Amino acid sequence: MNLNRKDDCIFCSIAQGISPCAEVYSDDLVMAFLDIAPVQKGHTLVIPKAHYNDIFEVPPELGAALIRAQKAVGSAILEATKAEGLNIYMNNLAAAGQVVFHAHWHLIPRFSHDTLRLWPQHAYSNADEMLELASNIRKRFA
Ligand code: AMP
Ligand code: ZN
Repeated sequence: MNLNRKDDCIFCSIAQGISPCAEVYSDDLVMAFLDIAPVQKGHTLVIPKAHYNDIFEVPPELGAALIRAQKAVGSAILEATKAEGLNIYMNNLAAAGQVVFHAHWHLIPRFSHDTLRLWPQHAYSNADEMLELASNIRKRFA
């Protein structure tokens, strides 16, 4: 197991049982605990136990364990809160709203009549702008 850890990281401290949390799930590689400032009650964070700053550092080999935990914890949240839906999202880097720089996924229970709204959407100026941007991104894989 990768024991990668960072001394001043609150989520490493939680993963090692040093700092307290309201734990809901733990296995060898992954754990989940309630967010201390929930968007809605039951808002849960799923983290790798090892320290990675963000998605760009998380090794693909951890993907299966993380998805498995997100599905299991998500199902448990739905049952426990009687929620009708679940948002899973992740902030990466400060400009995207990341505050804790230990990779984590937010699991947020949703109800059909809750007042949460996703961010506003916009249009491209025209089809060419959209196709050119897709091409610009795609060529990074060449
Ligand atoms: P992010 O903006 O994606 O980095 O989100 C960090 C999240 O961690 C926020 O929703 C905080 O409320 C949550 N958080 C920070 N410290 C703790 C903690 N000690 N226990 C539980 N959640 C925390
Ligand atoms: Zn950490």
